[in-house]
Amino acid sequence: MATSEKKKEAFRATLTTVLERRLFFIPSFKIYGGVKGLYDFGPPGCAIKQNITRFWREHFVLEEAMLEVECPAVTPEVVLQASGHVERFTDFMVTDMKTGECYRADHLLEAALEALLDDPKSTLSEEERKEVADTLASVEELDCEALGATMTKYGVKAPDTKNDISAPFPFNLMFKTSIGPKGDMVGYLRPETAQNIFVNFRDLLYYNGGKLPFAAAQIGQSFRNEISPRAGLLRVREFTQAEIEHFLNPSDKNHPKFSNIKDLTAPLFSRELQKSEEKAPKEMSFGDAVAQKMIANETLAYFMARTFLFMQNIGIDTSRLRFRQHLEHEMAHYAEDCWDCELHSSYGWVECVGLADRSAFDLRAHSAKSKTDLVAHEKFSEPRMEEVLEVKPNRKELGVKFKTAMKAIVEQLAAMCEEDSMAVKAKFDAGETASITADGSEYELTASMVEIKRTMKKVSGRTFTPSVIEPSFGIGRIIYCLLEHAFYSREGEGNEARTVFRFKPLVAPVKATVFSLMQRDELNDAARALSAALTAARIANIVDTGSTTVGKRYARTDEIGVPFAVTVDFATLQDGTVTLRERDSMVQVRLPSDEVPEVIGGLVREATSWEQVVERYPEQAAAGEGS
Ligand code: AMP
Repeated sequence: MATSEKKKEAFRATLTTVLERRLFFIPSFKIYGGVKGLYDFGPPGCAIKQNITRFWREHFVLEEAMLEVECPAVTPEVVLQASGHVERFTDFMVTDMKTGECYRADHLLEAALEALLDDPKSTLSEEERKEVADTLASVEELDCEALGATMTKYGVKAPDTKNDISAPFPFNLMFKTSIGPKGDMVGYLRPETAQNIFVNFRDLLYYNGGKLPFAAAQIGQSFRNEISPRAGLLRVREFTQAEIEHFLNPSDKNHPKFSNIKDLTAPLFSRELQKSEEKAPKEMSFGDAVAQKMIANETLAYFMARTFLFMQNIGIDTSRLRFRQHLEHEMAHYAEDCWDCELHSSYGWVECVGLADRSAFDLRAHSAKSKTDLVAHEKFSEPRMEEVLEVKPNRKELGVKFKTAMKAIVEQLAAMCEEDSMAVKAKFDAGETASITADGSEYELTASMVEIKRTMKKVSGRTFTPSVIEPSFGIGRIIYCLLEHAFYSREGEGNEARTVFRFKPLVAPVKATVFSLMQRDELNDAARALSAALTAARIANIVDTGSTTVGKRYARTDEIGVPFAVTVDFATLQDGTVTLRERDSMVQVRLPSDEVPEVIGGLVREATSWEQVVERYPEQAAAGEGS
């Protein structure tokens, strides 16, 4: 194993020990042996998740006045048939021919190609290396057949047993269930939170006064029966998603607040750069990326930039963040552009947010299946002359021929989309009859029964299906990467390494620990009173009146990333002052006890910086760190 790999594994082993021991998250149902891909968040994990989702609401929902919804995870089949999930929400799977163990085909191929490139004894020529690297960069683009052929070409075997593997085949990732006692209504646990928003589009548009653009958002659980869950929170079978569907007019994808972010820069790994020789992202402003048409439109770029700022605010190391554009065949056929916000971890680059311009696909799909108009209306500032397709039924002739069915036929003709109307016209132009279905029955129409022609007409507005820009966040993945980015070790007592999480106060599970210097009733009482004052100010805190050394107690709170520690000592009893210590610098100041809630509150809200606190109050010699 290469040294860098060994280092990564050692880092991960230390981190995992702390995460499990301090109950950030643990395997679910542990006393029964656990189930792969299911995790419980313990107290610090829960608090971090709450803090991140609260900030997500402030940063996105509040800032853009989004309409938040909360909908069921149990979803009837028809919804997921319309969205295409029943048919296509699959990953390609291979099985070990002897043991039957299941693997994700693309992951096995990627691992095999990476191993080939990393092999110090490799005999690959320069040209062969380039071919392997190019194949590795485009694994996501391979369809089932091409994936199978490539796996055969590189002799991919089952990783644990080295046995032969089957050809890849699609496996649907949804958990199937039945709704109701009779068991005759098929349902699924939703694989994403987005579909709830699409099916509510009409009501949400009405709520918004019929105006576009607007965005709706949902935070909730999603379920995917992953083939081989791995890497802790990174690939799990139940996870929290936070999704935004921003609906807009397809002919205007500019964003009113684009100028706020146009000069912000981020590493952009475009399709071209991924296929280039260097395969490295380029730091670029969002303004330039839109001007050069690297990012399809302002609104998509706006959300990418807001995502970057979100990550920065929660404490992600932005030197380990990049936006990777989807390759042509990786992207759904209807999508106009897609970028993943990827964060780097010891497992490599991880897709944490998907940002896509999904065009009008979802609304059209649900509109067709539910027979409900999911459209918006635009009123032009001035009426204009436009070419329109006019469908004029000959009611008299239709009435004579079809009697009472005439009404349904006329309604069906009026509801036809342009594509269907043109198909009917093409039949008439070819001298044929055209069949249409109205109210469940089929009718043959002749050219004299309906006139279909293009004419110029004065129009004052139009009806259209909105496009949607979708930022989709995986909260668990972001939390895991944040844990890795925030984790470090420093020297403690007797040179023994102490681990610390450098969480920003905003994210930290507990904001302050209150210590009493010694086990004395007066000191413990003062510590409890201060804790009560912090609680009254809505600041999450813990009291530690334990009897170990101050150094050990600091180490305990550093280990869960508590940013501030307040110590009550004998001076407190005399003059009402306490010490306040900042976790990373370990600098301490002395201040009046009754000012502590306001000072810590300001630090947590980021209204005050620690530097300002140090300027305002006298510094105290940092006693006790190593004792
Ligand atoms: P997708 O709909 O596949 O683009 O997923 C949207 C987001 O959900 C991704 O960017 C991930 O952050 C997250 N996600 C998807 N699958 C999983 C999983 N199995 N475990 C954890 N997070 C996931």
